[in-house]
Amino acid sequence: MKSPATIFVGCLLLAGLAPTVQGIEPIEIEQGMYRVVAGPSGVVVYHGGTQLSLGSYFTVYKPDYKGNIVSIGELWKNAAVTRGPNRMEARADLPEGRARLRVEVTPDWIEVEVGISVAAGVEFGPREYAAFQIPPDLVVGGTVEVLNAAGSVTESKPVPATPTRGGMVRPGSMLRFHTADRVIEIRTGGGTNVYAFDARVEQYGKRGGLWVFSGLPVAPGYETTVTRRLRVIPPPEPRPVGTAVFQDGTPVARVVIREGATEREQFAAEELVAYIEKICGKRIEVRPIGTDAGRPGDLAVGECAVSAGLISREELAPLERDGYVVRVTSDRGAVCGWRDLGTTYGVYALIRQLGITFYAPGCEAVPETEALTIPACDLRKKPLLEFRKMTQNLKLGHTPSDDLGNPRDIGEKGGLVHAAAYLVPFDRFHEEHPEYFALQKDGKRLHRHPKATRFDVHLCLSNPDVQRVSAERLLVLMDKQPDRTFFGVSQGDGHAWCRCEECQALDTVPGKVMTDRLITYVNAIARFVAVKHPEKQILTLAYTKATSPPPIRVKPEPNVMVQFCPYPGRVYCQSHFFTCEKNVGGYEDIQGWFKLAPSRLFRMT
Ligand SMILES: [Zn+2]
Ligand SMILES: [Zn+2]
Repeated sequence: MKSPATIFVGCLLLAGLAPTVQGIEPIEIEQGMYRVVAGPSGVVVYHGGTQLSLGSYFTVYKPDYKGNIVSIGELWKNAAVTRGPNRMEARADLPEGRARLRVEVTPDWIEVEVGISVAAGVEFGPREYAAFQIPPDLVVGGTVEVLNAAGSVTESKPVPATPTRGGMVRPGSMLRFHTADRVIEIRTGGGTNVYAFDARVEQYGKRGGLWVFSGLPVAPGYETTVTRRLRVIPPPEPRPVGTAVFQDGTPVARVVIREGATEREQFAAEELVAYIEKICGKRIEVRPIGTDAGRPGDLAVGECAVSAGLISREELAPLERDGYVVRVTSDRGAVCGWRDLGTTYGVYALIRQLGITFYAPGCEAVPETEALTIPACDLRKKPLLEFRKMTQNLKLGHTPSDDLGNPRDIGEKGGLVHAAAYLVPFDRFHEEHPEYFALQKDGKRLHRHPKATRFDVHLCLSNPDVQRVSAERLLVLMDKQPDRTFFGVSQGDGHAWCRCEECQALDTVPGKVMTDRLITYVNAIARFVAVKHPEKQILTLAYTKATSPPPIRVKPEPNVMVQFCPYPGRVYCQSHFFTCEKNVGGYEDIQGWFKLAPSRLFRMT
């Protein structure tokens, strides 16, 4: 009968590997242009005569960096190594875990897999993995590009001659270092993303370069693996400059915007130019002009399309506020929105006409051609919903953050939700007017507890002066942010609602269900600001059992929109719809809101 050891060796031979050796010497593997030396310095990589990686390391530290549990050095000191013509594997059992390094080299790529396990019950701290340490000379002057799992570029940055130290780009599924000589591509095998870490500082010594960096997932008692595949791609041939023409063959001569175009109009024009270049390699110039937009060969973006007579104000009127018209004839084109935000949406609609698909933020498909024809089209569109605060992505038609009133942009506290901190600032008013703030359980008006880590501003909503101050301050914010649409009016977070008699008298269930109290306050402000800014919308919250049920005695003003939050207290199950038995309360609430004022929950445009 064969001993288990013999069977093991037999399997290895079948797999093309030599028998296990206790390996301290570095292992060298060569295939095609690639040569890898795996040893205590990690994985050193050469391609042709060029060194691509100075080494690598991985470490699972003890808490607070007080020593190592698993590391490349410990692995190598204790490793049992197996190797074949194009692969090697080193494994080691360590006092508090195990480590494994597998390298495979083919003529087309090299792959490195690291397997880590920390024994159950062992406390561990930070984990670091620099899969490759790229010599700086190789990439300075080039660019580093981040790609997502779909293969779309999400970020691109130059590699400067001066070290920046630390993360250079946000993590992604793939990194590409582009230089005139080559592209070095590193793919991840799922799981952890990688980023480029600029380690060109003294403390990292000779191996300080551009590191392909990430954390290491650790699940105590189990092995977790991280895979990185590196390949070198010859630099792409310079892109031929193609052509962009209208249907009758007239070349696209210029993208025109008006003199003094808004930021959104300029941005829209630049996006149009950038996508045309991505498709056909031809860069069209953006030109601000006075009145003569609309000549053959022009693509007019924004208000200049109206002044040139290509799009009329009359046809834009029914598209209020975020709709647009895109009109391309056989020899010219124009895009204009009811406002400049619509112009941006319209430009993306035109870009889609050119064959581009926007799937999700950072995920898009761009066709390439040397001869782009801008197809004739006549689009008149507006979004289905007025308020579309989802990803803030303009390409997907979502409401952008610069359409939301924001006190922080004028240097004040507060935000779109829990706006009370802006509307009646505690520090400015509480000494002179403690009565502006909520009466608390202890019989005092709202005050800061010295030890509290957070402080939520709760107002005495029934106080007419609080309503007046809030309204005046909201008006100030609206005046300072005239091109924004949505502004928040709401109570602070938490449970410190006012317990005064006047406030509780407004409640349907005093101190428990406070929607009527809140809406009474919101309505007073909404009526005040509507005089000067009738187009602006006030957002408030139906949130927790305090304000989830609809009001009974009052109804939100027409310029008030209610953000209904399905939240514990009224909604407990997030896996199912409102009809789940755990969500009965919330279902009742939202049906009540719909009955009371459906257009305050969402509005079709
Ligand atoms: Zn009160
Ligand atoms: Zn459920």
